[in-house]
Parts: sequence; C-alpha cells; structure tokens
Amino acid sequence: MGNDGGTIPSRKEILNFTQRKLGGVLAKSDVSKKERELWKLAGAFGYCQLSHKRLSKPIVSDYMGRLFNKEDVILYLIAKRKRKKARKSKKSKELKDGSDEKKRHNAKEDTSEDSDPFPHLRTMKDLVELNIEYNEHDGTVKCPLSGKVFHLRSEKDNDINQLQLCYLVPCGCTVGKEILDQYLDVEYKKAHVSANKRKSRCYVKMRCPVCGSVTCGGDIVDINTRDDTEKERLAERMRDLEDSGLTHSLKPQRKASDGHTKRKGDPKDNIKKDAKKQKLI
Ligand SMILES: [Zn+2]
Repeated sequence: MGNDGGTIPSRKEILNFTQRKLGGVLAKSDVSKKERELWKLAGAFGYCQLSHKRLSKPIVSDYMGRLFNKEDVILYLIAKRKRKKARKSKKSKELKDGSDEKKRHNAKEDTSEDSDPFPHLRTMKDLVELNIEYNEHDGTVKCPLSGKVFHLRSEKDNDINQLQLCYLVPCGCTVGKEILDQYLDVEYKKAHVSANKRKSRCYVKMRCPVCGSVTCGGDIVDINTRDDTEKERLAERMRDLEDSGLTHSLKPQRKASDGHTKRKGDPKDNIKKDAKKQKLI
C-alpha cells in the first residue's frame, strides 16, 4: 500500500538497512529516495525524523506524533529562518530592480521551499516536549503508569508490534497506549460519554494520570500511529487548532508585525468549539 509501484521491502531488509546506515549521522548525499523510504518505515521510533540521529533527550513531537531531537529541531528552525530572511531581502531587492527575468528566478526559488519535508514546523510551539522515561543507551521507554518497558530499537517482531505509545498535550507525559486507553475509558464513563464516542478521543476535560495537569481526551497523540483513522483524527485536530489561532502545543500562534495573529481565528473560539463537541457527545 502506498509504495509507488515499487517492491515492498521486507522487515529484515529494513532492519539490515537501519543497522548499516543508522549507527550515527546519516550522510544526506549518499542516500537514495528508496533508502529514505526504508528508513522512514524502520526508524520512526528510534531515530530523530529530522537529523536521522538516534533519539536523545530532550525529545519533542509534532501533531502527528513524529519524534525529533529538540536540539536538531532548533538547528533546523534557525537554518530555515535564515533562508527565509535571505530570500526576503533578495526578493525586495529584485522587486525594486523590476527585472522580469529575476522575478521568474525568484518564483523558482519559492517553489524550492515547498520541498521542505516539515513545512508545519515553524516555531517550537509546533512541538511538544515529551516527559518520557527514555533510556538512550539501550533505547527503551518505560511507561510510568504500568511499568511496561518498550524497546524502540529492537529487531524482534514482538517488540516492534508492542510499540504503542502516546503522549498528552500540553504536559507531554508519555505512557503506554493500552494503559492510557483503560484510564480514558474510566474518565469517559464518568463524563457519560457513549461507548462509540470513546474510540474517537472526544474532547472531555480530565487530569493527566502522570503529572495531574489539565488535559483533554482530544489532546492525546499516538506516537507514530499506523492507524489511518487516528491519523485523520490528528490532522483534523490540527486543522481545528489552526482555525482557532492555536498551535499543536496549545500555545497561541506567532503574532504578525501588525499585532494580529498570522492565521485566522481567535483562541477563544477553541473553547466554543470544545463546547460544541461536547454537545455532540
Ligand atoms: Zn502529564
């Protein structure tokens, strides 16, 4: 599925690839597109999606539950901002100049920006820092609720299938999905949410079972989910947040120079939206 007509790589092939290529920093120039796809499949849990280095704390995650090293994201954002600034000053110079050829050249450069694999990462507010019991030496994560240990870099089928983790926004506490689902079940029952609505992670306010801070059912993110329904839900959650002027971390979007939020919406609308969702329950 979604393999662009190519052969589907076996898990062994993927793992051999990761072992061979991912011991340290992945040199960008000698990696083909196919190899990158292989890496994506195998390395989603144990490696930073941006730098391809092994995960090391502090770890951050975007709205789709992808994992990154915070340090690498900061470097990426600085470089991105520098490129943007350079483009802007070049553009204004060329506009003053008024040369059509230069304008065309400019348009070409604008398209090249579209190749950014993570255009949704604009500021650190687009990420949540995880409160995760991660041991970077052996690549394990311990669930603070159940004590269960997850092996992020394991080669065993069983370990890979067990990799079901999620985190809560905004606190970032990371727990096993199974135990969190049990907790949610109790919370939803308390809020009289019907059984079929519970599966869709609806917006019911609750306390994080790890740190006690306020969160809600809709703000739970499955890490590297393979479930298409959950992927759709996460994308819809992000659209709702953007419409309300909020980022993934629930912080307001960056203000434009005129003092208004860059994207449409008002944070207050989110509260209304939450209320609306609760009525639907
Ligand atoms: Zn928490």
